[in-house]
Amino acid sequence: MKFLITAGPTREPIDPVRYLSNRSSGKMGYAIAQAALDAGHEVILISGPVALPAPPRAQMLRVTTADEMYDAVHANLGDIDIAVLCAAVADFKPAAFAPHKIKKSGGDPVIQLVPTRDILASLGALPSKNFLLAGFAAETEELEKNAREKLKKKRCDAVIANDVSVPGLGFESEENELTIYLPDQKGRVLPRGSKRDLANALVKILCAMK
Ligand code: C5P
Repeated sequence: MKFLITAGPTREPIDPVRYLSNRSSGKMGYAIAQAALDAGHEVILISGPVALPAPPRAQMLRVTTADEMYDAVHANLGDIDIAVLCAAVADFKPAAFAPHKIKKSGGDPVIQLVPTRDILASLGALPSKNFLLAGFAAETEELEKNAREKLKKKRCDAVIANDVSVPGLGFESEENELTIYLPDQKGRVLPRGSKRDLANALVKILCAMK
């Protein structure tokens, strides 16, 4: 099967030296890419800026901004079977890019933000698609409620949720705990483990759904 996976954060430029981003390390998405490759699948990995090496044999596309990630995803839907959107895409970007470094001497700067395009929702809204669509939900509260809302609103086949408020789990860490939500089914917990073990389990589950 052919996977398209997004991973890592995006960076939204404020001026030539500053940007808006988040704490995503890309480890979960890269682990899913590696797990899919290990299971003999093809992988297109679309990654924001991270400090991780490209998994050997992945077709790697590196992007910086949410807009670039959106375009790269839409340009590579071709013959994919499973899309796993794991990236922590910035939800907002500066309304304007300041062409010169914003000076401290200019008073308190005000940076107006505008929403980025939601890549996952844009795939869910496609009039017809032949691939399974899985999204992620990184939450700090009400995991199930928020994940189920995403499942519905973004029209995904699965939402994989993790609680990023638990120390040692999720963002930047080696371990995670995931709960997979499918429409009309009880959440399925993949208990705390290495991102690698969780990724292997997740790839099996997604392939069985396809
Ligand atoms: O709404 P929220 O950002 O929590 O949704 C998370 C899910 O949506 C993840 O799968 C993430 O990759 C995806 N997403 C996206 N494009 C955005 C924002 C989120 O694909 N602009």
